[in-house]
Amino acid sequence: MHNVQFYSNKQFNRAAELREVVTDVTNISFVPMYKGDFFVLQGETASVLMQTPMELVSKTDKYYFLGIVDNQEVWCIDLSEIAQETIAKYLPNVVLLSVRDCLHLINEQEASLLAYAKGLINWNNTHQFCNNCGASTVMEEKGHRRKCTNSSCGIPHFPRINPAVIVLIEYQGTNQSPLCLLNMHQKDYGYMCSLFSGFSEIGESLEDTVVREMKEEVNVDVSHINYVASQPWVFPASMMLGFTAKTNSKKFKIDDKEIKKAQWFSAAEITELVQAKKLVVSREDSISHYIIMQWVKQNS
Ligand SMILES: [Zn+2]
Repeated sequence: MHNVQFYSNKQFNRAAELREVVTDVTNISFVPMYKGDFFVLQGETASVLMQTPMELVSKTDKYYFLGIVDNQEVWCIDLSEIAQETIAKYLPNVVLLSVRDCLHLINEQEASLLAYAKGLINWNNTHQFCNNCGASTVMEEKGHRRKCTNSSCGIPHFPRINPAVIVLIEYQGTNQSPLCLLNMHQKDYGYMCSLFSGFSEIGESLEDTVVREMKEEVNVDVSHINYVASQPWVFPASMMLGFTAKTNSKKFKIDDKEIKKAQWFSAAEITELVQAKKLVVSREDSISHYIIMQWVKQNS
């Protein structure tokens, strides 16, 4: 079990000052994506393709600036509109995998780069038209802004991110070990557990969302809300904001439209079940995994 915050990268140089500067496209590394997936080169050791042949780059204008890696500009490029036979001509021996399924082939920095690429391509693809007047939009700032082409409207559009909270609910009885309430998903081997989450609504603070969502999902009243960590979740455009919150009763009632089963666990119980391979703590790339494992570590 690792304890890593996937998809964020504090060191990455987004070089926003270069978004207004014209670049010589022959000196760019283009990370290719096709319908939301990435290219994996087959061979003795599989690897994710981080370069695109210029013959393919010249067939589309859907490429967007990510930042600087090793003194070179890195962009992402969407090859979705190019015929598969054409792609196969220049990229033989590749398969397509989602970023989450590529994780065993790449390091954390590369995972963060692919997630960023996926999010930026998705935003450009889904904002081809102005949501104010319906006219088409054009890319500006190398893919970080789009502008409405209707001269009587002309508003700029910026990438929007949807905030969602994800919450570890904690209970501690007098002279007892603390417990956390987990969302249980049945699997062949036993269960995968995760935390409870939900989107922030218009007019809510994040704390309001935590209180409302925990009431809706498991009918628990929470207080003492503490921020833990965040995660960009580009599937497709969210920001997961992780919290812990306390409750003073072990009673709960699941909303069975959204939740199948919930259960209280101590840190020792989680460790024991994981070791016995009866429980998996979320997928390793999720903030749910990160927060649960932090809590287990702090309470063991
Ligand atoms: Zn418009």
